[in-house]
Amino acid sequence: MENRQVVSLARFKRSVGIHVSIAGKVDLAVDRALELGCIGTFQIFTCSPRRWTAKPLDEPQAELFQEKASRSKFAPVAHMPYMPNLASPDGKFHSESVDVLIREIKRCGALGISGLVVHYGSHMGSSIEDGHARIVSACKKAIGSTQGSNVRILLENSAGTRNSVGSKFEDVRNVLDCIGDEKRTGVCFDTCHAFASGYDLRTTESAQKTILEFDETVGLERLFLIHVNDSKADIGEGRDRHEHIGLGKIGDKGFRSFFALKELIDIPLVLETPIDQKLGDKENVAHAKKLLDLE
Ligand SMILES: [Zn+2]
Ligand SMILES: [Zn+2]
Repeated sequence: MENRQVVSLARFKRSVGIHVSIAGKVDLAVDRALELGCIGTFQIFTCSPRRWTAKPLDEPQAELFQEKASRSKFAPVAHMPYMPNLASPDGKFHSESVDVLIREIKRCGALGISGLVVHYGSHMGSSIEDGHARIVSACKKAIGSTQGSNVRILLENSAGTRNSVGSKFEDVRNVLDCIGDEKRTGVCFDTCHAFASGYDLRTTESAQKTILEFDETVGLERLFLIHVNDSKADIGEGRDRHEHIGLGKIGDKGFRSFFALKELIDIPLVLETPIDQKLGDKENVAHAKKLLDLE
């Protein structure tokens, strides 16, 4: 009986959200997260993800965002825009990318967001070592330029597409070690990316084995966020193709097994499922909650 109480309490605390739009005004993201059934967390882009420039944040709107988020007990996270490539071998492109990273850390600070999801990027054919060196120097520069900030850079494991950096747990560990600032860095584990780069999540045994390997290589204490996405591509195919929860190659059985891992019970979950005719965001959140036994 006592054990059961502990479990249900832990489940009650579980955070599950989805990526939501800030269209119109940034604080509207909080209303959208509530409407979609998010509990405890959601993710935003602080600006248009396909542009290099960002309109300065409107201060009253940023304050309202913080107020609304805290009223609804949300700890939101943000995702870097898509254009920058922090592993780029091109000096100018790299330094412009670092500028965006610094800007986004500052914007997160103004919005009361403490986690910024960052892609390792592509080495564009130079070499994996060069890619590592580039992402390490980018993060070091950004951390150095934002001293005193409590925004944590959450490096997201990649799907292992051509030239991508950060698909293997060893690489993730290596990069974190070289940056060397544990207070300002951490990992966002994307289920679709892990699966696409060869880590199995389809059964209780394989999900357990993957998380054990992550713990031994990177360390679960470095894990701050999980991106919950099913995968259109099969295991090890190295393709980044998100699918609705349960409709991809990981499937309901895989997610049920993954969600049941007690090691992950405190880690917030954020969905980045596709926008298409098949299913809506609300249905995906509800389905994830069902697999989490939250509904
Ligand atoms: Zn992701
Ligand atoms: Zn992806």
